[in-house]
Amino acid sequence: MKSIAIVGAGIGGCTTYLFLKKHLSPHIPDLEIHIYESYPPPPYISKSTSTHPTNAEERPNQRSTLTTDVTTALGGGLGLSPNGVRVLKTLDPSIYTRIKNSSYETDVFALQVSSGRMLGNFSAGGKRYGHGTMFIMRAALHDAVLEKVDLKDISFGRKVRRVVDGEERVRVEFEDGGDVEVDFVVGADGVWGRTRDAIPESAGVKAEYDGLVGVGASLDEKTTRKILDELKDKKNVVIPKSPMTMTFGPSAFFGTVLNIDKINKTPSEEPAPGDQDLERDLPFAGWWSTFPMDPPPTSKTPFSEVKDQVLAKHKGWTPLITALIENSGVEGAGEVTHVLPRWITPSLPKWTSDSGRILLAGDAAHCMPPDSGQGVSCAVEDAMTIALLCEAIFAESSVKESDENEKFKKLCDLYANLRKPRCEYIVAEARKRGDMKRELGVVEQTIRNVVMWAMCKVMPESAMDAFYSYDVATEVKKALNGKAPAVKGKGKVVVRED
Ligand SMILES: Cc1cc2nc3c(=O)[nH]c(=O)nc-3n(C[C@H](O)[C@H](O)[C@H](O)COP(=O)(O)OP(=O)(O)OC[C@H]3O[C@@H](n4cnc5c(N)ncnc54)[C@H](O)[C@@H]3O)c2cc1C
Repeated sequence: MKSIAIVGAGIGGCTTYLFLKKHLSPHIPDLEIHIYESYPPPPYISKSTSTHPTNAEERPNQRSTLTTDVTTALGGGLGLSPNGVRVLKTLDPSIYTRIKNSSYETDVFALQVSSGRMLGNFSAGGKRYGHGTMFIMRAALHDAVLEKVDLKDISFGRKVRRVVDGEERVRVEFEDGGDVEVDFVVGADGVWGRTRDAIPESAGVKAEYDGLVGVGASLDEKTTRKILDELKDKKNVVIPKSPMTMTFGPSAFFGTVLNIDKINKTPSEEPAPGDQDLERDLPFAGWWSTFPMDPPPTSKTPFSEVKDQVLAKHKGWTPLITALIENSGVEGAGEVTHVLPRWITPSLPKWTSDSGRILLAGDAAHCMPPDSGQGVSCAVEDAMTIALLCEAIFAESSVKESDENEKFKKLCDLYANLRKPRCEYIVAEARKRGDMKRELGVVEQTIRNVVMWAMCKVMPESAMDAFYSYDVATEVKKALNGKAPAVKGKGKVVVRED
């Protein structure tokens, strides 16, 4: 193997590159690994010269628009699960440090009903898994991995038109008319990617709108404190104690993220105008609402157009929720708002080509409903799996095949056997969670609330092992030794100290 093309510089593509650099490049010194990304570079990269800025201070604090910034296109905030945190920490402890400094972590998700009545706490991780769930702006997480990619190994603004599988090599064709030939292609090009069309069984599978739209916003310190001040003397106001609260109502779901640690401290000095970048910085408060909407909004639908619908959906809910919505998208409250219809790819028949020279990873292979909280974690698990398998198959003598074509086939077989069942299991679980956010009748709501209350009461410590304790290195080793890999994680995780 001499050359690898990665299509897409999202979190999945960047981590695949970094893991391959770590595990494969030391064994194959002249190996070329190149990422092709359709978006132009983020402004801080286009302004820099030969290397990336190495820390947040050196990065211009700059807002950007959807059309100019790949990281912003990913939008909003997300919860990074403990299994994903561990993979990123294994990849590079400095990435973990960066993430830790830009996130807040929680061991529990608080669950409540729309009146603010608590149902209980649900595990978000904790000691058993080495970490809790980290809430981080998606752009900040993307920055943390993107800035580790060597600039000479990434081409921005090069949209892939088609990937063509060949007996010995793969041709990657670009919209600009050019093409490259490589030995191996990783399609990490997300829900709308083109690489999947090179796998005949999965060609033409299109993402489908799942009927739910996610609307959200982030709020700055001043606005959040103003809201909390106004509410503090009102009756029946519940201010969550957990940084992440999930509220279930009759026909909608509302997630709240509050920077509890900072809220409990004295107000910080107001940041100088222009110093804040809520697209990358941790917001003081954030929220997202999920509810059915038909037809779906387009990616250009402005926040203001859906804000009234969000307010109507949450009318009469606990006052903190309505206050957060009312104060969002208002000048001076922080401008980060997003409207995201949920596009989900149906299960793909195949993730790899017959030649074994093309494989799909991340959302391109398994776009999962956001309810899983596992999209990023699965993408980075894929990345680590690919690199460890490549190392064993192409660099170590443990794998016997001498013919390179056979090696590629082996790589793809093992990869699909390891990753497809795990991701399909997570998607199935996430769909069940998503269904709790659809319109329910009074009886169904009562059943849902009782089930969630009971779950929180009796949930064993190991309840989230299947998601959170999955260990990539162990499963790869098992697969290489001919043993059946596990779909779910099991048991307590042994983690290195920070
Ligand atoms: C509303 C919402 C909330 C979410 N919440 C969470 C959460 O809480 N926790 C979590 O873990 N995950 C969450 N996710 C999922 C998570 O964001 C994704 O699973 C993860 O970012 C996948 O990364 P990726 O690199 O595979 O794909 P992407 O991030 O989609 O990256 C694909 C890249 O490929 C590029 N590309 C596409 N086509 C081409 C082409 N033809 N040529 C070249 N480049 C191309 C794109 O520009 C993009 O940069 C959420 C997703 C949504 C939509």
